[in-house]
Amino acid sequence: RALNYFLDLKGNIRVFCRVRLFLPDEIRGYARRVLTSDTTKLFLRIADDKNKQYSFDKVFHPQSTQEEVFSEIEPVIKSALDGYNVCIFAYGQTGTGKTYSMEGVPSNPGLVPRGIRAIFEQASESNYAFQFTFSMLEIYMGTLRDLLVPQSTKQRVHKACLSIQMNSLGGIEIENLVSIKVSNFEQVKRLYNLGSRSRSIASTKSNSKSSRSHCLTCISLTCSAAPERQKETNKIWMVDLGGSERLLKTQATGRRLEEGKAINLSLSALGDVISALQHKKNHVPYRNSKLTQVLRDSLGSDSKTLMFVHVSPKEEDLCETICSLGFATRAR
Ligand code: ADP
Ligand code: MG
Repeated sequence: RALNYFLDLKGNIRVFCRVRLFLPDEIRGYARRVLTSDTTKLFLRIADDKNKQYSFDKVFHPQSTQEEVFSEIEPVIKSALDGYNVCIFAYGQTGTGKTYSMEGVPSNPGLVPRGIRAIFEQASESNYAFQFTFSMLEIYMGTLRDLLVPQSTKQRVHKACLSIQMNSLGGIEIENLVSIKVSNFEQVKRLYNLGSRSRSIASTKSNSKSSRSHCLTCISLTCSAAPERQKETNKIWMVDLGGSERLLKTQATGRRLEEGKAINLSLSALGDVISALQHKKNHVPYRNSKLTQVLRDSLGSDSKTLMFVHVSPKEEDLCETICSLGFATRAR
């Protein structure tokens, strides 16, 4: 059961690694293997006589399927129906498979569609009645953008009003964020596609790639018809983070540089929060980024957090891989 999954282990944060496979056009070149793994360890060959080892709650190797990855997280997603907030992140350098893991491809859906389907299925078998709402937003250059509002002047006025508030119960509310009642997977899928479209339109306008922003999808559930249960709302956040690559390598200038700085700042703020939670620090620095402010009530305390750190199998990406694994180490 979902609860047992966390019972015997420290904290409520799990860190997984997913190693991307070599893509067809990469195989044609000379591809030296720098990564090997077993179920919980990743071995990195830094030089011929130098290896480094990293531990995870689980490592998904290049041949791991979407089904395998999903089956690992399914109980955690479903625990939202037992009253937990859940937060799932995809971290990694651009091109390592974050979007593949979260959204997937039409022929092979990822964690978001699978998770949402599973939640509706499980809810329909429950004795309780649940109400669901769906929201989708983007954090770009430290600004929240509602992805379910058409990209028009209305959006510009609207986005200024997306402020983050904490209610009396410590729950986070984003003022004016569109949240749409949904009752089945098809409705969510339509909204998700709408959100994705407004994301890409915004990206081309500002001449940036979607990898320079964080994309956050939220399903919130309210358990309504349970007299013995308090009427409570929980959230499942699924976050496709902006690319973690360092700025030096990309030789970014101007706006690209600013975007990169914003991403790096918020990723390190996320790392600081997770690290503070893992070490049970008294002070958790949620306020240092919009990302951690939005997710505040879904990170720590009673919530469950899953971090997928994605890495490239390529030797030329070794430096980025070491950085990503460093982030993962801090998060454990
Ligand atoms: P990111 O979102 O981290 O920038 P993507 O998810 O877009 O990376 O992945 C880059 C490319 O690699 C895409 O074409 C994607 O379909 C492919 N890809 C990533 N991971 C896998 C995988 N495990 N199996 C097959 N294709 C993958
Ligand atoms: Mg992506």
